[in-house]
Amino acid sequence: MSEAIEAFVEEVIRQWKTLSPVQLANYNEKQRRESESEYRSFLEHYEQDNCYLCRKPFKTMSAPNPCLHWLLRRSNKFKKKNFLDVTKSFDFHNIEAFLRWVAHADYGNRRGGWHFWRKN
Ligand SMILES: [Zn+2]
Repeated sequence: MSEAIEAFVEEVIRQWKTLSPVQLANYNEKQRRESESEYRSFLEHYEQDNCYLCRKPFKTMSAPNPCLHWLLRRSNKFKKKNFLDVTKSFDFHNIEAFLRWVAHADYGNRRGGWHFWRKN
């Protein structure tokens, strides 16, 4: 790890330790709401075969803008080297979360959809 990254991580940890329990709970709640909102957006687009990140149909690929939806391989243009393009723009956690959401959505669709999400 470079010195700049190490210094940044140490500063984040130092600031994190200064948070009160209330501040920490508020931060966690804010993170939870943001994740839930992002997942709802994902599902709304997913049901229409569109990507919530780039707003394009899953079957499209735009070379200058690699996107996680390429990994669904709905386009017949996808080649192995395109996986590397995606990894240059997204890290492991982004890829893992997106694919987990897709698997979860597919499972939900087989069971009749995720309609309960829209009611909240
Ligand atoms: Zn996309």
